[in-house]
Amino acid sequence: MTETKSLDQTILVQKYGGSSVASVDHIKRVAERVARCHREGHAVAVVVSAMGKTTDELVGLSKQITDLPTPREMDMLLHAGEIISSSLLSMAICELGVPSRSFTGLQAGMRTDDAHTRARIQEVQGGRILKALEAGQVAVIAGFQGVSPALEITTLGRGGSDTSAVALAVGLNADRCEILTDVDGIYTADPRLVSGAKKIEWCSYDEMLEMAVLGARVLHSRSVEIARKYKVPFMVGLSQQETPGTWVCTREFAQKEFGSMEQVVVRGVPHNDKVAKISFDRVPDQPGIAAKLFETIGALGVNIHFIVQAQSHEGTNDITFIISDEDVPRLRTVAEDLIQKVGGQEVVIDTEVATISVVGEGIAREPGVAAQVFKTLAEANINIDLISTSNLMITCVVALAQMEAGLQALHGAFFEEG
Ligand code: ASP
Ligand code: MG
Repeated sequence: MTETKSLDQTILVQKYGGSSVASVDHIKRVAERVARCHREGHAVAVVVSAMGKTTDELVGLSKQITDLPTPREMDMLLHAGEIISSSLLSMAICELGVPSRSFTGLQAGMRTDDAHTRARIQEVQGGRILKALEAGQVAVIAGFQGVSPALEITTLGRGGSDTSAVALAVGLNADRCEILTDVDGIYTADPRLVSGAKKIEWCSYDEMLEMAVLGARVLHSRSVEIARKYKVPFMVGLSQQETPGTWVCTREFAQKEFGSMEQVVVRGVPHNDKVAKISFDRVPDQPGIAAKLFETIGALGVNIHFIVQAQSHEGTNDITFIISDEDVPRLRTVAEDLIQKVGGQEVVIDTEVATISVVGEGIAREPGVAAQVFKTLAEANINIDLISTSNLMITCVVALAQMEAGLQALHGAFFEEG
């Protein structure tokens, strides 16, 4: 993915999220920060999201027409949001006397696979952007989008402009990557739900990835995967102010950059209320049943967070799994058919659930974290529906109505005591 760098300036990739470009005034403020960086002598490539709630509004328009639009048309619709914000930002930068050009994902060389609405970046052909930077221009790139081998427009999934930014940083061999937004960093828990939540100074790629997957809405998880693969350290911080945010990097980088020696057990307690629990009840306890189920579900492009199989009552199993609630309509199109086909009793779709998790590299190292999680939830009188664990996390499915209390209890136990 990497172009050889011919610029002698440092290359800075900055990404501005939707809330940072929500209005023309916001855009002008971003333009000032970008212009300042340019004047300080950096070569600046800026990736932008769509203005404010534009993407949601576009989704809303499509829903007035159909519940199941073709993914191709969804991409055509949604990629337009970022084209608007990138061109306006470029104009605002030019108004400040700094030369700037905007580029669509296609023009910026963001090559993806052909999976509409959830495409993956395969390569960034950064030549054209590098030329703009070499010519002294600020390049403003429409995030969230790319182009497939068949030259179809694709989008990268909601929140995907983070991924555009990190991939571009790799493609340009940038010196620095900053994801700038309306929060000043990654927090130990969602501060809107947990008043004692604290800003995290740094975390590892693995921890961040786990937190992103488990619901920390600050970053698109693909962005972290790419950063981990290419070892790009990046910072998440405020767009309105130049205060230090949270670094996502290696331990070595954290030690070198800010002398951090800390060893934490738990890094954060993310939650996800945008999930649904699907149970295929009393399916035959035979080889091949799970394969059949998940083959069909996988082919729909439904992303499965985790799966639990509970042991047979009289030769049957309950196979239960967690998906994003946005995938429920798609799952419904096959659910009844599937349960018939595998010979099970019924499918239950429950959207009144949520996941709460603890994440940290210390979980594998320190015994007793699991016990503490379960004890804490028990003391708060919260019933655990399902449990899933790995070296990096412990996740519990609970009733949606109990999520907030559970989160506060876990945060209290791991971050606010002692
Ligand atoms: N505009 C897209 C969204 O709202 C992409 C992004 O903001 O990163 O999901
Ligand atoms: Mg976003």
